[in-house]
Amino acid sequence: MDLEAIADQRWRGEDTAGPEDAVTGCFTVAQDVAFLPSFGNVVALGSDDGLVLVDTGADFNAAGIRQSLRAWSEARVHTIVYTHGHVDHVMGARLYDDEADEHHWPRPRVVAHERVVARFERYALTAGYNEITNRRQFNRPRLRWPREFRFPDETYRDATTLEVGGLSLQLRHERGETDDATVVWVPERGVLCCGDLFIWTSPNAGNPQKVQRYPREWAAALRHMAELGAEVLLPGHGLPIFGAARVHQALSETARYLESIVDDVVAMMNEGAGLGEILETVRPPADLADRPYLQATYDEPEFIVHAIWRRYGGWWDGDPASVKPAPARRLADEIVALAGGTDPVLARVAELVEVGDDESLRVAGHLMESVWRVARGPAQAQLRERLYATRAARASSTMARGVFSGAARESIPDDH
Ligand SMILES: [Zn+2]
Repeated sequence: MDLEAIADQRWRGEDTAGPEDAVTGCFTVAQDVAFLPSFGNVVALGSDDGLVLVDTGADFNAAGIRQSLRAWSEARVHTIVYTHGHVDHVMGARLYDDEADEHHWPRPRVVAHERVVARFERYALTAGYNEITNRRQFNRPRLRWPREFRFPDETYRDATTLEVGGLSLQLRHERGETDDATVVWVPERGVLCCGDLFIWTSPNAGNPQKVQRYPREWAAALRHMAELGAEVLLPGHGLPIFGAARVHQALSETARYLESIVDDVVAMMNEGAGLGEILETVRPPADLADRPYLQATYDEPEFIVHAIWRRYGGWWDGDPASVKPAPARRLADEIVALAGGTDPVLARVAELVEVGDDESLRVAGHLMESVWRVARGPAQAQLRERLYATRAARASSTMARGVFSGAARESIPDDH
């Protein structure tokens, strides 16, 4: 399999295969640098004192990644760098501790930004919430949220340089998808590991079920990375980008995408607009709409608007009815009573689903939830399932699809 050829197809938008998981194995992408595509990607760099790994994979794929890595090199793992503390990047680290114990090697040193520690502590505090939201987000009803983490042995605050067996790695802290991100730049190999600051989709800067993200700081991080002159970009998800010009283009265009949304939202906030009006108005730059690496397949610009509002404003959306809202059940009773019962509301929901444009489906959601709070018979359940299955099928992003699929599934609970 020629990774560079597939990466080239993807860059041109000719490869519509979808998720990066289609490509697996261990590929040499620069001198003594291996790339292991998975969810998330792992990078291995050879040195005179052993391997340096950037990320380690998720609990469900880490063993396979280690196997592929071991076909590429048998050297001990000297150092592991976490690009951030998300579970698809850190859960494989334990395998290399175990491996070291087996071979009577020293255990690898794990290096990460200092906020990774607070993240792991939060993950333990909110384990139930994280399990529920990740099951919904990824449509994996049996997903288990980990309760134990491999904490870093060394942390840093702003920037640090690691010297390992003649190899020099420059680590720099950034904020973007997370508050604990590390970018790894290896000048002598021309390789830049950016973690999830670039993932071949529009930035995951607005995820509706997760803690605050940092769209403006994210853009600054991308601008900084674009200036490094990297020959190969190794992202946290998706294939590498080969060639300095392409790396520069991808990073600086993604920066512009975020800057444009941030600037527009902040300008409207400064003029006194409410969140609803901003959501209806702000759109990403039209000239970037066809970029294969900026499609809204994972997160969506609409959700980024929410994140910017939350970052710079209060939780109130500007609607006077919503600062102290009515109990949802009482409001539903009133709407159903005004309509003359649940039947006319249900009939209107069915019509709107039939019409099927985005705005009609949005309205159908509000009406459906009003009925659902008042009555939950088979007719209501069936229509609710149909509405959200339709919305899931129409959704471009994993985030929206996960919420809608979850709602469809809970409408008609299966009895096994
Ligand atoms: Zn990730």
